[in-house]
Amino acid sequence: MRRVYLDHAATTPVHPEVIAAMLPHFHNSFGNPSSIHSFGRESRQAVDEARELVAKILGATAREIVFTSGGTEADNLAIQGVALAKKGQGRHIITSQIEHHAVLDACKYLETQGFAVTYLPVNAEGQVQIADVLAAIRPDTILITIMHANNETGALQPIREIGRLAKEHKITFHTDAVQAVGSIPVNVDDLGVDLLSLSAHKFYGPKGIGVLYIRNGTKLKPLYHGGGQERKLRPGTENHVGVIGLAKALELATTEMDTKQAKIKALRDKLMGGLLAIPEVKLNGHPEERLPGNVNVSIRYVEGESLILSLDMQGVAVSSGSACTSGSLDPSHVLLAMGLSHGEAHGSLRLTLGQDNTEEDVDYVLGILPPIVLRLRQMSPLYHKR
Ligand SMILES: *Cc1c(COP(=O)(O)O)cnc(C)c1O
Repeated sequence: MRRVYLDHAATTPVHPEVIAAMLPHFHNSFGNPSSIHSFGRESRQAVDEARELVAKILGATAREIVFTSGGTEADNLAIQGVALAKKGQGRHIITSQIEHHAVLDACKYLETQGFAVTYLPVNAEGQVQIADVLAAIRPDTILITIMHANNETGALQPIREIGRLAKEHKITFHTDAVQAVGSIPVNVDDLGVDLLSLSAHKFYGPKGIGVLYIRNGTKLKPLYHGGGQERKLRPGTENHVGVIGLAKALELATTEMDTKQAKIKALRDKLMGGLLAIPEVKLNGHPEERLPGNVNVSIRYVEGESLILSLDMQGVAVSSGSACTSGSLDPSHVLLAMGLSHGEAHGSLRLTLGQDNTEEDVDYVLGILPPIVLRLRQMSPLYHKR
């Protein structure tokens, strides 16, 4: 059976060149980067070179790069770290209703610790409005954290404009760029951010390694204590193999990015067109201002999880914003924030394309999906009552 992976927003396979770059560091250059003998020095040098490369690609300096265990830890270090460092100045944080749970739950936790959080709404296209950000700013606002691109709809957020606003009001600005990095150009000065999170496994690197970019001068307290690594902001023996894999993956993803992403976008547009040609299917998220590989649709009268399982039986991997797949009772908080009904959110499907997808993959999915939708609809009482 043909297998088609269309869930690149969940994770990506590790690129063969990334594996090749990592391999020798498991057993040959395996030293602890903190050791002063030759084994340690080799690892230290590899980590330093990787840090330089990552910094260069993001438009940062090497000392502004802190390696973490991934996107979740980078988000928590940014949000809780600023809260700890600046709680004497104020206790108000601005975020949005469509953030990843790594951001939302860190903010919810801070609410239990005496912080106030404003969760900004989004418009029907899934985008935060700059006027809402401005209106939410208070004298005691210490942090704004708004994601660069949404993981469910791919909707791009007005990060540059928010960056300008944050700077004017001298508020620290963090963006969760986990979905953006590797898909669209990301430069920390261009965006005007003080803190930026990224994660290697979303751009063909290994899982369990990420970065928090921290602009020089940004006040931040560590969440862990125990060693001097990563300028004491993230102590613990460096995952040097992961660091090397992350840097290689970032280098590969950002080389000829335009060409690679144009190919993905062309396939995405074909897939989107085919899906929207099915009756009573509507697009979720902004039609243009979205990640090149993302399609998110609501298919009326069907359940997302039934679709996922039916597609899976035919080798196609996708995801949904329906409740069962998100592991909670409520359907996607992102789709609900955009004003979708529970029914529309339950019937949503997210298909995210990547570098290895082909036109044949898209044709295959567009061939099998309409009959699946028809079969599921015929089992739905609502469909017959319409
Ligand atoms: C995947 C993801 C994360 C979490 O990253 P991990 O490395 O899996 O912890 C955070 N934010 C967004 C937007 C993501 O897509």
